[in-house]
Amino acid sequence: MTAVAELDLDGITPAQVEQVTARLLSRDFDQWASEAARVGHCHRPVKLVGQAHTIDKATGSVLSTLDSNRMPDGVLYVKCGNRRALVCPPCSREYGADMWHLLRAGAAGGDKGVPTSVATHPMVFATFTAPSFGPVHAIKQPGSKGSRRCRPRTRGETCPHGKSLSCMAIHPDSDPRVGQPMCSSCYDYESHVTWQWWALELWRRLTIELPRTIAHALHLTQKAARTIVRVSFAKVGEYQQRGVIHFHAIIRLDGPPEDNEPFPAPLLELDSRWLADQVTAAARKVEYTAPLAYRDGADYRLAFGDQIDARPIHRRAGRDDLDGPINPETVAAYIAKYSTKSAADLDPADRADTKEHLARIRAMELRLADGADELYPPGGPFDNPTGCSASGATCSASGATSPPSPVATPPPLPASAAPAAATNAREPATPTALST
Ligand SMILES: [Zn+2]
Ligand SMILES: [Zn+2]
Ligand SMILES: [Zn+2]
Repeated sequence: MTAVAELDLDGITPAQVEQVTARLLSRDFDQWASEAARVGHCHRPVKLVGQAHTIDKATGSVLSTLDSNRMPDGVLYVKCGNRRALVCPPCSREYGADMWHLLRAGAAGGDKGVPTSVATHPMVFATFTAPSFGPVHAIKQPGSKGSRRCRPRTRGETCPHGKSLSCMAIHPDSDPRVGQPMCSSCYDYESHVTWQWWALELWRRLTIELPRTIAHALHLTQKAARTIVRVSFAKVGEYQQRGVIHFHAIIRLDGPPEDNEPFPAPLLELDSRWLADQVTAAARKVEYTAPLAYRDGADYRLAFGDQIDARPIHRRAGRDDLDGPINPETVAAYIAKYSTKSAADLDPADRADTKEHLARIRAMELRLADGADELYPPGGPFDNPTGCSASGATCSASGATSPPSPVATPPPLPASAAPAAATNAREPATPTALST
């Protein structure tokens, strides 16, 4: 049975009531309704005006003409295709669903031409975060080691500005303090923004480093290793509450593809735990020295944060398991969900208490852009609220964890970043991507 949601008319204005009534009574309502359905009830459809002719190639005669003048409202609607739920819920749902199918096919097989045998390949779900740029209020997940309190300190430590560096709260998910610095004056906004800017470079370097690390672990040259094992991945960048992204990736090992077998198993017996060790080792090696934003500044040495997590993906793992191996469908759902969010979703309620932190990030972006207009040009990633274009999803060119032809609907998004350890206050971390 299909459940029908009730129409929510709360908050509708008298002018909108008038608009809806006029639409319902209009002569072309049925045609308009079918046009709206054709674009999936997109909230912000693109409106096209003009004519489109279908021409017989052989004779050159016009077979039919589509004229926007004859459409309802005098326009042809095309869906916006925006992946962000806050911008267009229907298009975002479609994007998330496509992404889920793609990721599930890559992790579990049985869809989009990927055989179910891929689920037996070594495969991990990895998370790469940015380093710390200063203490922030945090949620300690159930099951994590130690106290679930935010930042328990018994010696009454304070920062140079006299702010307490201890927080005994167990913050609920909805607490706006989560992700906010303990002291905004101490928080290293310059490194935060610089790390974010170069996050994709760190990811790119990781995609180069991982096959290298794998070859080294097998005591082979990279060329020889490629005849035995290849790396595939799909990754997404997710914004943490502190306004910096981290990267989630499904990373899978395959054998070299053959004409009749595009997704063979590696030619050596390797398991997911071994792959998890290689992923962690590779991520720890990745670093990037970023150019200076100011001529008189110090170099930024960027790396991923210490919290590199690589969990084996196993089809027999429970759907709700918090520790140990993780189920492929759970991973697909998790990554698909985050592929529809972006920086602007960090503060949907536009709350004053989270605004200050985001405003400071923004101010630092402008300052850096100002100090280095070639390096950080206006209109670049620094024009994004958190200074990064690295959210969204990408797959390795080989079709990595997913099928060879990537997502149909919205354009693939840039990859996300992984964690690196900044070596000093001016050293943000860099992410890289995995390649085959
Ligand atoms: Zn839309
Ligand atoms: Zn706290
Ligand atoms: Zn301080």
